[in-house]
Amino acid sequence: MCHFSMRGLLSVAFFLLLLLFAGAAPSDAQDLMSVRTVVIDAGHGGKDPGTVYGSVKEKDINLEVALALGKKIKDGYPDVKVIYTRTRDVFIPLVERGSIANRNKADLFISIHVNAGGKGSTARGTETFVMGVDKSKSNMELCRRENSVITLEDDYTTTYAGFDADDADSFILLNLMQSAQFEQSIYFASLVEDNFTRNGPIRHSRGIKQAPLVVLWRTTMPSVLVEVGFLSSSSDRKSLTDKESRAKMAECIFDAFVSYKKKYDPAFEPPVTTDTVTVVSPDIRPAKPSAGDTLYRVQIFAVSTKLPAGAAPFQGEKNYEYIEAAGLYKYVIGRFKNRSEADAELARLKIKFPGAFVIRTDGENRILK
Ligand SMILES: [Zn+2]
Repeated sequence: MCHFSMRGLLSVAFFLLLLLFAGAAPSDAQDLMSVRTVVIDAGHGGKDPGTVYGSVKEKDINLEVALALGKKIKDGYPDVKVIYTRTRDVFIPLVERGSIANRNKADLFISIHVNAGGKGSTARGTETFVMGVDKSKSNMELCRRENSVITLEDDYTTTYAGFDADDADSFILLNLMQSAQFEQSIYFASLVEDNFTRNGPIRHSRGIKQAPLVVLWRTTMPSVLVEVGFLSSSSDRKSLTDKESRAKMAECIFDAFVSYKKKYDPAFEPPVTTDTVTVVSPDIRPAKPSAGDTLYRVQIFAVSTKLPAGAAPFQGEKNYEYIEAAGLYKYVIGRFKNRSEADAELARLKIKFPGAFVIRTDGENRILK
């Protein structure tokens, strides 16, 4: 049912204008080649439960997998910024989810969902979507379901002006906006499905698909929507309602993230894993007490697990120490008597560690306010 009409052409113009005014300029080449910021989107939430089976709601499964994935990325790569579109059971409009990713100049957008078949459907398995047009009937149905949340939003008629879930032309326009990121999106999607097939709790991949999904529509970075299983399938449901299986799903997506980073990030290092953290090296040293005065030091980052010496996150820095405080290992560099010396070191370190800042400690390594 695909034909170009006058209305279609007008909406092309409208959408291109929208693109110009949305500030949706693609990142520069260097940004495209690094993987430093990831936005993880737990589908649905609040008044929109998504797919429901008895007391099981899609929105809760999505959130749990999303948070577990984010934690794995943070633990494995303390220097990667993880941003969630939601961390609780709240309603977030579809267009806002992509905007969060654009505003934060994310390098990758991962939306997590649970699938459902229609009445009498025996469909099961995982599938990962990238933005695109595929006119097969089942995709159109999924699309209508995942996009239909728009109508729950108070001002959807203005936010999504020009979008008609039943109009193929609208879909083609949405497609244009993601074409620049198509190859990377497809690559990430294939990694996710490969990992599900090899290590996932649900080892039945329905493959990589294209669909015009509003949540991916205006993102300006590689973006995928992962359907981790069918709540309508009794065998998938066993995994979807099992905590360990959900953690495994997050792990599969995390492993895809690692492979993706390896391909696209020239500064790639393997993730810091719990296995390597238990290796004790003589180079790992807690900060020694020093007599007397207040010291200024540059905190480069804080993590919940002690890192092995020379781990990737240190980016070649050697003279770091850690201070244990509030359940965190705060890694610091330098022992300066005055603030200006510390600021000079901070300026150097900020290039590698944008989140670095100066802290004050006393002689016993207690952090001072
Ligand atoms: Zn969904």
